[in-house]
Amino acid sequence: MSDSSTNFDPSEVNKFAAQASRWWDPESQMKPLHRINPLRLGFINERTPLAGLAVLDVGCGGGILSESMAQIGAHVTGIDLGEAPLQVARMHARETGVEVDYRRITAEELAAQQPGHWDIVTCMELLEHVPDPSSVVAACSRLTKPSGHVYFSTINRNPKSFLMAIAGAEYLLNLLPRGTHQYARLIKPSELNGWAEAAQLETRELTGLHYNPFSRIYHLGPGVDVNYILHTKKTS
Ligand code: SAH
Repeated sequence: MSDSSTNFDPSEVNKFAAQASRWWDPESQMKPLHRINPLRLGFINERTPLAGLAVLDVGCGGGILSESMAQIGAHVTGIDLGEAPLQVARMHARETGVEVDYRRITAEELAAQQPGHWDIVTCMELLEHVPDPSSVVAACSRLTKPSGHVYFSTINRNPKSFLMAIAGAEYLLNLLPRGTHQYARLIKPSELNGWAEAAQLETRELTGLHYNPFSRIYHLGPGVDVNYILHTKKTS
């Protein structure tokens, strides 16, 4: 486990910075994030009603989830390492008149500054882009108040997820830019569970996030072979 401020891959951060100007265009290559956002927002808000709570969104990018949580009354801090996505996020929040505190800092560094500060931490579609995801999971736990909740979403690693999330989404359907995801960095739920448990985060629920390429509809439900969300609660 590393506590350093160096747990990031510049090529991963640059990849997203290059897309930043079109982050809020629902027809851009950020389309999947726009489409899944109501599902993940609903999932989180049904389990932990967000209004009035202090929420930290780790790897917030252009702020699609951060803003939507602020819009329903959460006090949101969004952190990312990409300057361009953060600028887009700040500008968009000003335009919509929503208040979100966006900061350029790693989860590990913020955990050293403000441990136990947030009721809820969300870490969506980030872990599969980080060199040492277990360190981010541990930092998310440190950032959370005792009995607070942490939500992770990422992509499983198996032949089906390779076909669906990489070959299908990036090469066949052009849903995402080619090279968005590297197979070796994908994460099995058992691995994520292990890191979470080691960080005093107990699993509450694990659910799949599915895309049907024929109907083009996303939905949440059983089956975690490809995309999934993990809801955890801090035990101490
Ligand atoms: N969580 C957002 C954005 C996901 S895209 C959403 O789901 O809507 C992944 C984001 O992770 C990008 O904005 C990228 O800049 C950021 N990122 C990559 N490596 C990071 C790291 N080590 N720490 C924080 N953010 C990182």
